[in-house]
Amino acid sequence: MTKLFGTNGVRGVVNQELTVEMVTRLSSCIGNTLGKELAIGRDGRISSQMFYNAAVSGLLSVGCNVHDFGLLPTPTLQYCIKHLNLDGGLMITASHNPPQFNGVKVVAGDGVEIPRSVEEVIEEMYFSKEPKLVSWDKIGKKYSRDVIDIYINEVVSKVDYKKIKEKKFKIALDPGNGVASIVAPLIAQKLGCTIYTINSDIDGTFPGRESEPRPDNLSNLQELVKTTGSDLGVAFDGDGDRSIFLDENGEILYGDRSFALTAKDFLNRYPGSKVVTSVSSSNAIVEVVEKAGGSIYWTKVGSVDISRAMVENGIMFGGEENGGVMYGLHNPVRDGSMTMALILWIMANEGQSLSNLVSQLPQYAQLKDRVKCPNNIKEQVLKLLEKKVKAPKIDTMDGLKLFYPDGSWILIRPSGTEPIYRIYAESDTLEKVTKLVEENKNLIEETIKQLVS
Ligand code: MG
Repeated sequence: MTKLFGTNGVRGVVNQELTVEMVTRLSSCIGNTLGKELAIGRDGRISSQMFYNAAVSGLLSVGCNVHDFGLLPTPTLQYCIKHLNLDGGLMITASHNPPQFNGVKVVAGDGVEIPRSVEEVIEEMYFSKEPKLVSWDKIGKKYSRDVIDIYINEVVSKVDYKKIKEKKFKIALDPGNGVASIVAPLIAQKLGCTIYTINSDIDGTFPGRESEPRPDNLSNLQELVKTTGSDLGVAFDGDGDRSIFLDENGEILYGDRSFALTAKDFLNRYPGSKVVTSVSSSNAIVEVVEKAGGSIYWTKVGSVDISRAMVENGIMFGGEENGGVMYGLHNPVRDGSMTMALILWIMANEGQSLSNLVSQLPQYAQLKDRVKCPNNIKEQVLKLLEKKVKAPKIDTMDGLKLFYPDGSWILIRPSGTEPIYRIYAESDTLEKVTKLVEENKNLIEETIKQLVS
C-alpha cells in the first residue's frame, strides 16, 4: 500500500501529486471514518477553494452534514470542532509549503489531528476499499458557520487580559499573507495592543515572503519592529499554527526560545508538570523544565505525535523547536495566536522586555543539516549506521540519537516526506557542534555510497 499521510496530513503539488479526484475520494473516506457532523475550513491558497469544493462534495456524498467554517487558521478550526462538539473535520492547507502545494489536515472530534491509527484506517479505505455512498435522500446538508469570534474570545479568556491591556504593548505582526491575519490582529487588539502589520492581506501567491517564517526572510518585520519601537514582533506560517517571535531590538528568536520561555512560565504556574516534546528538541527545554521540578515526555519528531501524547497522558503543555507551542488548557495543538497571547501575558506579568526574558534562558549551539538519500534504501542505511556509530548512549525512538558525556547530542533521522536524512545537533559551542555534524555527515554519506554501489 502506498502512503497518503506524511508528517502532518496529506500534501502535494496541485494538479500533479494532489488532484480534485483524490481530495473528493479522500474526503468521502474521512466522512465514513470520523462521523456525521464534520467541519471544513481552508487557507488562502489559490487552489484552496477548488479543493474545498471537492472536499465538501466528498463529505456530502457519504451523508455527512458539513459545517462550513470558510477561510480561517488551522488552530481556529481545531478549537471550534472541539468547542461545538462536532465529530471532526478537515482543513484544506499546505501549511508553510510553497504556493504550488496544497493538502489536507484531518482533525478528530477532540480538536486534535487524528492519531496515526486512524490515518491508517482512512488510507486502507482509500487504496483498497470503496467509501460507502448514501442514497439520494440521505445526502448531507451544508451549514455556513461563523466561528472566528468564538475562537478569538476563547484565546483572550485564557490569559490575564486585564493585566496585558494595562501595559499598552506595541506589536508588529507579519502573517506572511496567510490566514493568521484573520485572527492575530483582532486578538492583539482585544489585548490592548497598538498594532503594526505587514503582509497582512491574504494572498495565495505569498508575495511578501515565503510562507515559512525563517530568520532569512523576516528582515521587513525586523525593520517594522525597529521603526515603530514595538515591544515585540510576531511572524506566522501560512495556516497560523506556528509563530516566530522577534524581541524589541528586532532580534529573531528561534522557535526553541519561545517554547522554553512559555514552558518555564507554565511550570511556574503549575509546578512539577510534565512537558511533551520530540527528540529533536534542545537541552534548553530539558533544563528549564527539570529546574522547575517537572519532567519531559519524549516523542518522535512530528507535531501530531506530540499532540496525541498530550491527549493520551493528560499532559497540558507541549511543543517543538520550530515555533509550535501547544497549550493544553486551550487545545493541545500548535497555535500561533495562542502562543502570541501567552508571550504577551509573560511580558506583562514579569514587567520585563522580551530580550531580557530570553537572556535568562539556557542557550546552546545548534545546527541542522541534511544528506540526500533515496527513499528505498533509507531503512538499510539506518541499520548499518546503528552498527557504525559510536556513543555512550543511543536512543532509537526516531532514527538514531547519540548522547555524549559533555551534554552534546546528535539526531540522525530519515525524513518521512523527502528523500533525505535530517541531522539535528547541539553542543555548548559552535565549534563542537560543527565537528559533530561533519563527522556524522561523512559517516552517513559513506554508508549511502556503500549501498548504492
Ligand atoms: Mg502550519
